Amino acid sequence: MKTIIEPFRIKMTEPLKITTREEREDALIRANYNVFTIDAENCALDLLTDSGTGAMSTEQWAAMMLGDESYAGSRSWKRFESTIWDITGIDNIFPTHQGRAAEAILAECILQPGDIVPNNSHFDTTRANIQYRGCTALDLPCPEAYDTAKESPFKGNMDINQLHRCIEEHGPEKIPFCMITVTNNTGGGQPVSMANIKAVRKVLDIYKIPLIIDACRFSENAYFIHEREKGYQDRSLLSIAQEMFSLADGATMSCKKDGLANIGGFLVCRNNEWAERFRNLLILREGFPTYGGLAGRDQEAIAVGLREGLEYDYQVYRHATVEYMAQRLVKIGVPLVLPAGGHAVFLDAKKMVPHIDSLDYPGIGVVNALYLAGGIRAVELGSVMFGRRDDEGQEHPSPLELVRLAFPRRVYTQSHFDYMIEVIDEVWQHRNEIPGYRITQQPKLLRHFTCHLEPKG
Ligand SMILES: *Cc1c(COP(=O)(O)O)cnc(C)c1O
Repeated sequence: MKTIIEPFRIKMTEPLKITTREEREDALIRANYNVFTIDAENCALDLLTDSGTGAMSTEQWAAMMLGDESYAGSRSWKRFESTIWDITGIDNIFPTHQGRAAEAILAECILQPGDIVPNNSHFDTTRANIQYRGCTALDLPCPEAYDTAKESPFKGNMDINQLHRCIEEHGPEKIPFCMITVTNNTGGGQPVSMANIKAVRKVLDIYKIPLIIDACRFSENAYFIHEREKGYQDRSLLSIAQEMFSLADGATMSCKKDGLANIGGFLVCRNNEWAERFRNLLILREGFPTYGGLAGRDQEAIAVGLREGLEYDYQVYRHATVEYMAQRLVKIGVPLVLPAGGHAVFLDAKKMVPHIDSLDYPGIGVVNALYLAGGIRAVELGSVMFGRRDDEGQEHPSPLELVRLAFPRRVYTQSHFDYMIEVIDEVWQHRNEIPGYRITQQPKLLRHFTCHLEPKG
């Protein structure tokens, strides 16, 4: 088989600043050893997130020039609405400025304090919006989700038995809706099978509980179903996506992921009574129902981007980049989460630097080593982000210490990936020199963004 090439060529370039090791050491110290606070221009390969960091196509830029900025009922809204309707088949469509705005409207309109919302794994903004309403966000991932080394095709699935038990225990009246996140971002970007979504639907039907899809990466999920699930090999990604949404009563979406746009989101639902409530709150929080939180030109870019995300050749290329890095790292011996997810490679820092205790933050050690060695910005998903303090101030580590290398869409070329692999290899060879860290200053909430750190010893 020949090399899978990028199915695009470059028409406009954005320079990357090539820094020296000394410059990076200096930048890291000035950032108090927290890469979140390093200026982006000093991160040549920025793998902090795949959200809103993608490159738009010529078609998207051209569509932006057609943006109709009329306050109500613009042509851009019509294109946005009809595209989302084609994909989801869901009638009530609300544009929002991001995914979290859609989640906030859903939570505020539908949840009462004390309610419970199950999900395969909640994304952090979804969890926060549910908790902000005084409710419980419950994660029910399948058991293999916790085994980082186990190769299994759909590690993003929900645990159906646990879902059943949860409803029996709390009662359906406490569960206004159930969610399923495709792909499962918090669980490593792992896919959810159609069979699992159907099984969830079947359980929910018994109790008449609506199903809401957190659809941020629905096209990547459709691609995995196409590749891995029996009976889907001859189907288009669009028709697979349509089948997924046909099983749902609604969806929230961040168009910064599979919308291939730099900003935007939407909320959709079938229930007209819910829609009435959403519409009223949308006007209050975001904007008039036909633009919500978006400019007409953004709606145009999203309408085109949603379709491009469902192009098979694009998904083949995207998955090839993730697999390329994962397979090369496996060959070198670097421990990572397998199989690789849809939008990122996750290094297993606990196994990479076993000499660093969890509460000395092995993930931070690896993240900072990657930055120093090659200007790569990654993110820790471990005890700094998820660690928990009990009432006595005692800190408890996260069960996993991962480092996420998220892949922006259509941004980096194969030589960038080759370079990243070389840098990771160098860090791996010198892993025994990586120090642990201590936190010297931290805010009360979401400390990973702004805390100050310092190397130990
Ligand atoms: C990014 C994301 C969100 C939130 O979307 P924003 O556009 O960042 O507000 C919600 N759920 C999942 C699974 C996500 O990845």
